[in-house]
Amino acid sequence: MKAITFIKKVGFSMTYQFCPTCGTKLQPHDAGDDGQIPYCDHCQRFWFPTFADCVITLVATPQHEIALVKMPYLSTQYESFVSGYMKPGEVPATSAVRELHEELGLHIDQITPAGSYWFDAANVLMHGFIAVTEKQPLVLSSELSAAHWVDAYAAHQYMFPDQPGLAATELYYRYLKSLQ
Ligand SMILES: [Zn+2]
Repeated sequence: MKAITFIKKVGFSMTYQFCPTCGTKLQPHDAGDDGQIPYCDHCQRFWFPTFADCVITLVATPQHEIALVKMPYLSTQYESFVSGYMKPGEVPATSAVRELHEELGLHIDQITPAGSYWFDAANVLMHGFIAVTEKQPLVLSSELSAAHWVDAYAAHQYMFPDQPGLAATELYYRYLKSLQ
């Protein structure tokens, strides 16, 4: 993926140098097809690089309005869709429904998986969804500085610039295509 310059870098690659269990300095060790992977001689285990799983959801009304949110930690200019980190024990659809309720107070009638996307600026795997719900007032969480319903065809002017592979871009065009 190309560098995303309009989004602040918000994550980092988690390649282990010390064992998270015992603190021993890890040594590269042959892990078959995966190549050289950091290994703890004391615990006798590999520590593969880790990343987080996130969900991102384009939520739309039957009248084709979509909810855009401003997340000040990503950008004070551009808007996107509700997203958030998954919690242990959740599957992506559960996380997506929870985030829509936590961040916007929404109750969702229908949610459909809409692809997975690697987000390099945050070192996360984004699980994309498209959700449909009757239009409801948006009740903002403290993580958001703004949110509004906007006609799907007019939403583009508020969103992050198009970037192939960026979850929001991919979800947006997937949704517009579904309206044709
Ligand atoms: Zn160890």
